[in-house]
Amino acid sequence: MTSEKIRQKFLDFFEKKGHKIIPSSSLIPADPTSLFTSAGMQQLNFYLSGEKDVLRDFGTRHLVSCQKCFRTGDIEEVGDESHHTFFEMLGNWSVGEDSETGYFKEGAIKLALEFFCDVLKLDKKRFWITIFKGEKGIRRDEKAFLIWQKEGIPEERIREFGIDDNFWGPVTEIGPCGPCSEIHYDRGEKFGCGREDCGPNCSNCQRFIELWNLVFMEFKKVKKENGEYIYEKLPQRNIDTGIGFERLVALSARKNSSFETDLFLPLIQEIEKKSIKKYFQEKRNFRIIADHLRASCFLIAEGIFPNNLDKGYVLRRVLRRIQRVGKILELKNGWEVPAVKWLVKKYQGVYLELSGKENDILIIIEKEKERFEKTLSEGLKYFEKLIEKKIEKSREKVIAGKEAFFLYESYGFPSEMVEELAREKGFQVDKQGFDKAFKKHQEISRAGAERKFGGVGIDRLGNEEAREKATRLHTATHLLHSVLRKILGEKVKQMGSDISPERLRFDFSFDRKMTSQEIKKVEDLVNQKIKEDLEVKKTEMSLKEALTSGALAFFREKYPERVSVYTIFNPKTKEVFSKEICGGPHVKKTSELGEFKIKKEESSSRGVRRIRAVLK
Ligand SMILES: [Zn+2]
Ligand SMILES: [Zn+2]
Repeated sequence: MTSEKIRQKFLDFFEKKGHKIIPSSSLIPADPTSLFTSAGMQQLNFYLSGEKDVLRDFGTRHLVSCQKCFRTGDIEEVGDESHHTFFEMLGNWSVGEDSETGYFKEGAIKLALEFFCDVLKLDKKRFWITIFKGEKGIRRDEKAFLIWQKEGIPEERIREFGIDDNFWGPVTEIGPCGPCSEIHYDRGEKFGCGREDCGPNCSNCQRFIELWNLVFMEFKKVKKENGEYIYEKLPQRNIDTGIGFERLVALSARKNSSFETDLFLPLIQEIEKKSIKKYFQEKRNFRIIADHLRASCFLIAEGIFPNNLDKGYVLRRVLRRIQRVGKILELKNGWEVPAVKWLVKKYQGVYLELSGKENDILIIIEKEKERFEKTLSEGLKYFEKLIEKKIEKSREKVIAGKEAFFLYESYGFPSEMVEELAREKGFQVDKQGFDKAFKKHQEISRAGAERKFGGVGIDRLGNEEAREKATRLHTATHLLHSVLRKILGEKVKQMGSDISPERLRFDFSFDRKMTSQEIKKVEDLVNQKIKEDLEVKKTEMSLKEALTSGALAFFREKYPERVSVYTIFNPKTKEVFSKEICGGPHVKKTSELGEFKIKKEESSSRGVRRIRAVLK
């Protein structure tokens, strides 16, 4: 069964059982305390805690989804059989139980068994179950134990674990949580360690695969004033479940690793074509590239851009790791093109945001590659020399914090990459020393950044006149964007923008220099639209609505769930000329703009052109 089929069967099954399919939420969580979305329940947090009304907002207590997730904790592990950075999670929920409409433990267990046994035809005799044994003042989950037995799982295949294994959540510091039960799948004796106590969560072997986690959410972890954490009863009980999709696909395909299923193998084969090495010789490195490239596509499609901050830094880190590992595999130039195309094609049916993004993704990968290319080889040379010197001189296998920071600052090596390189040589990095050097550097550069005016941060412009000028240029930027797409084609997409009271700067994807006729045409059409005195209207809507209505989104920006959309239209004919997701501010009518003039058209970087323009 293909991964597409399994995903669909899961959603169909629960829909038939009265669940509402909810779309995956963004990888960028609404809660700023977590870096990425790492579980399907994150978008439902307020419903699970009872602070929001699920019936009012969804019309039902029963929900099902396939959620994109990203975890940074296992990056170093990627390359083995099962770890990923980006992954998908299947889940179903019953939010707030009541006797008529909600279900709790029994309902969740029955549904899980029915889906696995009747729909996916997995062998129930291979299921082992774990339950919560009771710890930290919370009772053993006797009820779950009895239900599993009643549903045909014999006592000897039910194991009990404590708070580390069988108690789930909260996803951040505080919030809804509860004991859980997991369905593990026995792959058979040949995968086992042969010990007598071998079973689910065995620390000696990988015989048992954890497939489905059923969380019986009935507690809320809260922080008391004295800093102590306690578990309170939630006002309502919920079911929250999660299946690691990649694992399930591997198991259904009878493969030991998701990298050998339809999720990855065709991708790895595309990459293999561009390498002089073979997958079977270099499994780990091929897997790292496949995993990280998939992750990068999803991060970039969310509007994350490689930089040195939080999410952007994670993207930079995986992109640079791809590049370093790509060097080991001696990948040919341009290897990313068929690989990214394959990925977008594979996922765009499920995750709309990828659709049509091949070029944008490739441009960002390419830009980051160019940036790193210059220094990667030199940095590696420097690193080799450093190691040689250390081996000659001393017996201590440690790279000092300052040295690691030098590699970061001068050659752009993420600290984790220095650690990885060091590990390969049997060295360690003085992490504390690095952090110290890093902090000092940050304080210096932050002081510099505040003096700069970037993006459309008009609020910081201060005086009223400057702000009005910048507002007019901002509206002109929207007109320019639309005009460029009309004259040069729909491929044109905003890649950056910077507005000062004096001029606008607009970066867009386009693969050649514009001709002087084209520049003239663009100028003329912008001026024509200014003269037609179009109206500018602001509307608020959900991000999804905005995107499906065809509103342009600034590709690098990340957006909240609700956004404002600015439409520039002819008030008489109602014809829409421009529609963009944007925070504003804008003028009310285009006649306020004056005359538009392009000062310069130049290359900004590969595949990206830059226009500087003014209003007279
Ligand atoms: Zn074992
Ligand atoms: Zn705008």
